Amino acid sequence: MDIGVRLAEVVEDVRTGAEAADDYGHDEALGAVLVRPAYVVRPRTTDEVAGVLRLATEGRVPVTARGSGSGLSGAAIPSADGIVVSFERMNSVLEIDPDNHVAVVQPGVTLTELDERTAGAGLVYPVYPGNMGASLGGNVATNAGGMRAVKYGVTRHHVLGLEAVLPTGEVLRTGGRYVKSSTGYDLTQLIVGSEGTLALVTEATLKLQPRVRHNATLLAPFRDLAGVTDAVPKLVSSGLAPLVLEYIDFLTMAAITHTADLPLGVPDSVREKALAYLVVMLENRDADRLDADVATAGELLSDLGAMDVYVLPGGAARKLVEARENAFNTARSVGADDVIDTVVPRAALPAFMTRVTEIGPAHDTVIVGCGHAGDGNVHLALFQKDADKLAATLRDLFAAAMDLGGAISGEHGLGRTKKKYFLDLEDPGKIALMRRIKQAFDPAGVLNPGVLLD
Ligand SMILES: Cc1cc2nc3c(=O)[nH]c(=O)nc-3n(C[C@H](O)[C@H](O)[C@H](O)COP(=O)(O)OP(=O)(O)OC[C@H]3O[C@@H](n4cnc5c(N)ncnc54)[C@H](O)[C@@H]3O)c2cc1C
Repeated sequence: MDIGVRLAEVVEDVRTGAEAADDYGHDEALGAVLVRPAYVVRPRTTDEVAGVLRLATEGRVPVTARGSGSGLSGAAIPSADGIVVSFERMNSVLEIDPDNHVAVVQPGVTLTELDERTAGAGLVYPVYPGNMGASLGGNVATNAGGMRAVKYGVTRHHVLGLEAVLPTGEVLRTGGRYVKSSTGYDLTQLIVGSEGTLALVTEATLKLQPRVRHNATLLAPFRDLAGVTDAVPKLVSSGLAPLVLEYIDFLTMAAITHTADLPLGVPDSVREKALAYLVVMLENRDADRLDADVATAGELLSDLGAMDVYVLPGGAARKLVEARENAFNTARSVGADDVIDTVVPRAALPAFMTRVTEIGPAHDTVIVGCGHAGDGNVHLALFQKDADKLAATLRDLFAAAMDLGGAISGEHGLGRTKKKYFLDLEDPGKIALMRRIKQAFDPAGVLNPGVLLD
């Protein structure tokens, strides 16, 4: 019997790829080519997801999960003959549990929706990856990070438990509303960051934090990037516990402030000489203590070589953070050919950025950037139209990061676009073990084939 007919027996909302919107055929990865799947299904229940996966495994049909499609690594691009399982209708916040500081959500809930619900309880899910329209299912599958990781950590640190469906249709529950466990292999954490290749997440139990009311943002221009990267470990060690610690180079700053129409009040005499900026956001539950921290941070930044320190008014601070979060779209609009999110140990940032200044010119590639400096996570926009030169630049950048003890991707994932570099540069023993894990979860190889591994 035709797979479409059988799908309609197990899930209410089925459409063919031809009927479905173009959005289901791509994510936001630069250069991603639209691939129209054979079918798009939009389940409402775990049972429906299980039914779809059973059929897919039986018929050896590829399945790609989709949250909001805001991924940057091509991991939500489906196979042409495959099924997209879109979680947009499994979008309920099932519970906010204030006593255990936990939220239980379906995967299609967006960060904005969760933020609205937790605010009412005086709590916060503190992982703020740049796109608030992203789904929690997508965040779990990519182990999303974002600006606040320097204080609170990434998605992985906030996922306490999952309900997930295996390709066989078996439903697995892992973890729970507790913060520690020494009870066998940690299957929750194995699924986090697996980019839809091991299991489909149908529910997540997430750790919440108290919502802190007061925050302030400082902007510090520096004469050179080395000044910024040298300052970062010292700010982290200061005990001020910055909520955000971002670097922005002068070209990126010019582009994002121009795009966002955002005058920051930095005098021309400083702006003309500043080659890089640090953005430091602090938070405190007490306004007076926040003021004291701002004064301490200002002094520290000056001691560390900042040309000046500006405390931004609330509106300007919010706009700058939004503009920084939107830096990817700004890079795309000015013609960037790729954007990467390589991570190195935070103290290795100066060495890595020096390598970047050598690697770019060696391949005639222009590289500009910004990033979550507090995490050693740089977001570099590459301008190089020649595909071979671009690939050579990418390979050298990833190899340099790995030489310094870092990794190819800090938060966007490998997906389809960075996979070849991973397979090329990563320890073969590790890749072989990953293949065996994949085989154990998904013996028929139906979950997101072509993503992470070949
Ligand atoms: C402007 C912009 C800024 C961004 N800034 C950041 C940032 O600062 N930090 C950051 O980490 N990311 C950032 N991102 C990337 C993106 O928002 C994240 O990768 C996000 O986690 C993707 O969520 P999504 O719902 O859009 O997932 P999708 O793109 O739909 O899917 C991503 C992956 O998750 C899988 N998946 C989705 N749902 C499920 C599920 N229920 N079960 C199993 N697998 C699933 C998909 O198959 C795919 O492999 C940014 C993106 C944009 C466009």
